Amino acid sequence: IINLTDVNKSYRDHSVLRNINLSIDKGETLAIIGASGSGKSTLLKLMIGLEQPSSGHVWIKDKDISSLREEELDKVRLNMGMVFQYSALFDSMTVADNVAFGLREHSSLAEKEIESIVEKKLHTVGLDQFGQYMPNQLSGGMKKRVSLARAIAFEPEIILYDEPTSGLDPVMAGKIDKLIKYTQEKMGVTSVVVTHDMNSAYYIADRIAMIYEGKIIAVGDAKAIKTSADERVQEFINGGR
Ligand code: ATP
Ligand code: MG
Repeated sequence: IINLTDVNKSYRDHSVLRNINLSIDKGETLAIIGASGSGKSTLLKLMIGLEQPSSGHVWIKDKDISSLREEELDKVRLNMGMVFQYSALFDSMTVADNVAFGLREHSSLAEKEIESIVEKKLHTVGLDQFGQYMPNQLSGGMKKRVSLARAIAFEPEIILYDEPTSGLDPVMAGKIDKLIKYTQEKMGVTSVVVTHDMNSAYYIADRIAMIYEGKIIAVGDAKAIKTSADERVQEFINGGR
């Protein structure tokens, strides 16, 4: 459902991603791990057309989004949700309005239906009572859950998560992981999850891909990654210990 072929990405003369070939199946959850600055967020942005590759192609289903006009790209994006690294909520809007935003902008649903969807999605993420709160009244973990509720509002086929559990305590991180699993098992969502958290990667992912200095140096299931002979993989997953 997501295919990257020979993707390179540079900012001016700074090469950030090199020769990326990656294929993600429908219904699969892929975790992406790698050091800070290795290119993980850039890779996610390419998958949703927020950045264009310098060369190569990014396919979402049967569309090459590396060469789409903005209106067509918007159509493809209706089928995708993204949970950003820093939640990216609108601070001046209530939680409910944040979740409703995309529906109001991009659907022709009546306000009543939108409210009912918002209510359901807030329930899914365990924030039933918080619709009228402002984002600055929430903890970091709650903001991440609002961001997730917003991402699932359209019932997208694909969700991209950029470090959804970073900065959270283990219990809250576990809750987010369970929600990711829920979208996979109950909604059939295909997910790509950037994470530094190996426990989370092992729990949610069918496969794990490691990026090192802009290249994918390993892809495989948890067992394959744990037993990888590559020193760079071992150093990353064991934190050099
Ligand atoms: P982190 O774990 O810290 O979030 P990351 O793996 O997500 O890191 P990226 O954000 O993808 O890393 O950045 C990879 C490299 O690309 C970095 O060297 C960064 O400076 C560079 N980079 C990212 N975005 C831009 C941009 N818009 N313009 C120029 N350079 C950029
Ligand atoms: Mg990042």
